[in-house]
Amino acid sequence: MNLPNNPNRHTTQTVQVGHVLVGGSAPVVVQSMTNTDTADVAATVKQVMQLAQAGSEMVRITVNTAEAAAAVAKIREQLDAQGCQVPLIGDFHFNGHKLLSSYPDCATALAKYRINPGNVGKGSKRDEQFARMIEIACEHDKPVRIGVNWGSLDQALLARLMDENAKRPAPKEPTELMHEAVVTSALESAAEAEKLGLAKDKIILSCKMSGVQDLISVYQDLASKSEYPLHLGLTEAGMGSKGIVASTAALAVLLQEGIGDTIRISLTPEPHGDRCKEVVVAQEILQSMGLRAFTPQVVACPGCGRTSSTYFQQLAKDIQSYLREQMPAWRGQYPGVENMSVAVMGCVVNGPGESKHANIGISLPGTGEKPVAPVYIDGEKDVTLKGDNIASEFQQIVETYVKTHYGHR
Ligand code: SF4
Repeated sequence: MNLPNNPNRHTTQTVQVGHVLVGGSAPVVVQSMTNTDTADVAATVKQVMQLAQAGSEMVRITVNTAEAAAAVAKIREQLDAQGCQVPLIGDFHFNGHKLLSSYPDCATALAKYRINPGNVGKGSKRDEQFARMIEIACEHDKPVRIGVNWGSLDQALLARLMDENAKRPAPKEPTELMHEAVVTSALESAAEAEKLGLAKDKIILSCKMSGVQDLISVYQDLASKSEYPLHLGLTEAGMGSKGIVASTAALAVLLQEGIGDTIRISLTPEPHGDRCKEVVVAQEILQSMGLRAFTPQVVACPGCGRTSSTYFQQLAKDIQSYLREQMPAWRGQYPGVENMSVAVMGCVVNGPGESKHANIGISLPGTGEKPVAPVYIDGEKDVTLKGDNIASEFQQIVETYVKTHYGHR
């Protein structure tokens, strides 16, 4: 179940990507991107399935070589055979026109093509190659994302805008001009695609920047000037907490203004780290803002001098992991379970109060408190746990609650 979306969504235009609807009043869609070599079919299928299982509703794959293009249809077939219907998006740069022309099965298997107008070709070839990709999208009835990235901005367009800027009575500052160039590249490319025959409802735009304020400013401008659904994400967000915080800071401002129809969090994983982290972060941003619900949320206090052990921290972590692990099965079995909240609190100061506001809450004993843990269900005290098995008994209570409250609907 989804919570009501932001009524201020900037666009009413929707685009169908495979079975997923993007834009208008459709829920903001979570997407991700693989980092496997697409030519390695087994590795790519495995990662796409992991991302989809984690909740990614669309998955983008790099299509950069003939081997990668040849692998796409096989990847699609194997995903379908395993019951994974997640739409695949092909990420094309430099040679997309050739790959899509030479590998029609690839063009068919993909649900959307990402075209970067800054990397589509140079000089006179640029327009020709862009036109070829749009032509193929029209032939296969596929939507495209015109994905501008400030790191690969169309240099000819930038030079033109700089010339025009120099002639202005009050020329724009370089940052402002860069913002203008990024937005202009997206809008002019979209207009060109429409002129070439691509329907308006086959176009999604993005203008990715790596600075939070730059991204906010560019998307506010883009949203004010277009009706196309917008793919939103801070590019090159970085690693760990920096990447998460920067992405959240930028996206929260824009989503609150109704800007953004599909999001991707571009986190740099730790070496051998979990690629699915970017999906979890995207879901948590949307769920924390009340825009969508994906998985039951655990409310936990930060702990303080009143808790002498890490017991409650461990319990909060274990419960959150348990809930997340159950979701692939629970999603179909127990509709609405994603809206459940569970409180795990460190002592009686705020414990019972916070527990009463959650569907299920437990308040663990703080330093010097009686070694008992009262459990609240739907605001009422239900049972008091004690002894060595508090964690497993509490998990059992959560499981029973899920079955009785969300099952058999
Ligand atoms: S609920 Fe208790 S343990 Fe948790 S932060 Fe508040 S006072 Fe500290």
